[in-house]
Amino acid sequence: MGIVIQKFGGSSVADTKKLNLVCKHIIKNVDEGNKVIVVVSAQGKTTDILIKEEEEITNNPNKREHDVLISVGEQITIAKLAILLNELGYKAKSYTGWQIPILTDNIYGNANILDINTDKILEDLNNNFIVIVAGFQGINEFNEITTLGRGGSDTTAVALAAYTNADKLIIYTDVDGVFETDPNIDPNAKKIEKISYDQMIEMANNGAKVLHNKCVEMAQKYNVPIIVKSTFEKGTGTIVN
Ligand code: ASP
Ligand code: MG
Repeated sequence: MGIVIQKFGGSSVADTKKLNLVCKHIIKNVDEGNKVIVVVSAQGKTTDILIKEEEEITNNPNKREHDVLISVGEQITIAKLAILLNELGYKAKSYTGWQIPILTDNIYGNANILDINTDKILEDLNNNFIVIVAGFQGINEFNEITTLGRGGSDTTAVALAAYTNADKLIIYTDVDGVFETDPNIDPNAKKIEKISYDQMIEMANNGAKVLHNKCVEMAQKYNVPIIVKSTFEKGTGTIVN
């Protein structure tokens, strides 16, 4: 029992079939009596496609408008997931970053989270809603939409865990945790059961694309352990702490 945060990346929410699988992971936690906050990325390659389409217009977009554009994918995912959970008989409510609000600094395209108002989230959780939050986005002091840098949904999840004092944070991906080498390339890649924040940051600096670097730094700062595991296969995953 407690607050559980579950974050699902683009490949985990890529289509309706996968959204149904994601719902199974969410419902399991709800049925066990937990209060659940879900953070999601844009579906599949949505963000890449938006950037490509933007490049058809210009290579030098206005920074404000760039963030308005590339933040939209996540809004589609939160709404679809809430609608699907409702359909399955569960109360769920979706929020964009500005609706929470998740306050960031003014660095468009690579903003840092400064504060999260948890009032609405906690009220909804107490009213037995599953709260679904768009990853990767926030709002700055001028009420403008900002994004957190590519892969930034991980950072949204860690920040929410810190600000809601969550009991558990699980970041779901397409492989069962953190591996010594990329398991999508190396079939003999060895899984790591436990890894420190410092080692994880070093791995990311060496090119591993498991977790957003800022997210690990934030987890370390707020002392939030991260469980990384697979959406698709059973396994114990990796603990980052
Ligand atoms: N959708 C964003 C991206 O592709 C954020 C994320 O996936 O975490 O970078
Ligand atoms: Mg990611």
